[in-house]
Amino acid sequence: MVEAPVISLVAPAYNEARNLPELLASVVPVLESLGEPWEIVFVDDGSRDDTIGCLLAARSQEPRIKVVSLARNFGKDVALSAGLRHARGRAVIPIDSDGQHPPELIPQMVARWRAGADMVVGVRSKRAEEGLVRRTLARSYYGLMRRMTNVEIPPNAGDYRLIDRKIVDVINEMPERCRFMKGIFAWPGFKTEFIEFQANVRGGGRSRWSLFKLWRFALDGLFSFSTVPLKIWTYIGGLAAMGAFVYLLITLAQTLIFGVDVPGYASLLIVTLFLGGLLLLSNGIQGEYLARIFEEVKGRPLFVVSRTWGVDEPAVRAPAVSSASAAASEAAASPVAAATAATAAPLPSPPPSRDVAS
Ligand code: UDP
Ligand code: MG
Repeated sequence: MVEAPVISLVAPAYNEARNLPELLASVVPVLESLGEPWEIVFVDDGSRDDTIGCLLAARSQEPRIKVVSLARNFGKDVALSAGLRHARGRAVIPIDSDGQHPPELIPQMVARWRAGADMVVGVRSKRAEEGLVRRTLARSYYGLMRRMTNVEIPPNAGDYRLIDRKIVDVINEMPERCRFMKGIFAWPGFKTEFIEFQANVRGGGRSRWSLFKLWRFALDGLFSFSTVPLKIWTYIGGLAAMGAFVYLLITLAQTLIFGVDVPGYASLLIVTLFLGGLLLLSNGIQGEYLARIFEEVKGRPLFVVSRTWGVDEPAVRAPAVSSASAAASEAAASPVAAATAATAAPLPSPPPSRDVAS
């Protein structure tokens, strides 16, 4: 019988066949050095290269490597959420498969966790490669987020962190389809500590971040964690109405004192266009929230698993399929119904259906 893992690494992988051997070569010795039972849960996010072949080859050598294969590309944040659902460790560490997250940090994270931290967040110490504009934008964005939301999202912190089981359970209960992970990680709270690290350059392949994607990502964060952009229009509308009233008084006074005057066409046009612009903007922002509500009410599963190797059936259903056997446990198209778990998790003990590994 295989021991229940204490440390789980969760690694989403999309077209990472080139980087996986190197990652495994560096990460496995580090895990071995911890002296605890461990597992690595790889989530193949619908890769088009031989990522799955690589993972299965690695698994045939090392059964503590487990694989969840998603039915298509769902995006990194969803892949990571899928991995969190399948991980069984008391501490879970998401790590990128592209070699950017140095595994040497893991023992430090585990030490802090042993010393009582519930979340140990890896903070990237230098972003020199990113240029001044991006860094300034990032800084103002986090400032804005701090003021507009009630979750404290640490700047320069990504997915690389250690998360205690009790927080993982809360995250697994969070049903939203918009997976803004920085916010989702920060939302449950608990005792959080930070360690700095220097991100490596990407081993091979390409990163998915274009400037437009970053912009959408920033908006996603704002709209899924704050309702300020929605509510602010009450005040903007109030101000506009007040401005109009003042202008009315001025015009009235002018008319009474200086007689009737036909004011310029330009001012009329400017005011009309300005108000039209404001209205469209407010409509657009309502649209952003409406689209999110639409996504949420459809209640579709967050991801679709095509097949798993070595992991237990995730939450929600029981009984679990026999897990640690080397044989593939078929979870054919088993949707993980995030929506069914909408109620808050009873903490700190996880719901029984999930606690398969202990
Ligand atoms: N990834 C994924 N699905 C995607 C895109 C990326 O699972 O659709 C994985 C990718 O294989 C890597 C991690 O997410 O392990 C981070 O991706 P990337 O390096 O592109 O992002 P960055 O490091 O620039 O944030
Ligand atoms: Mg990367």
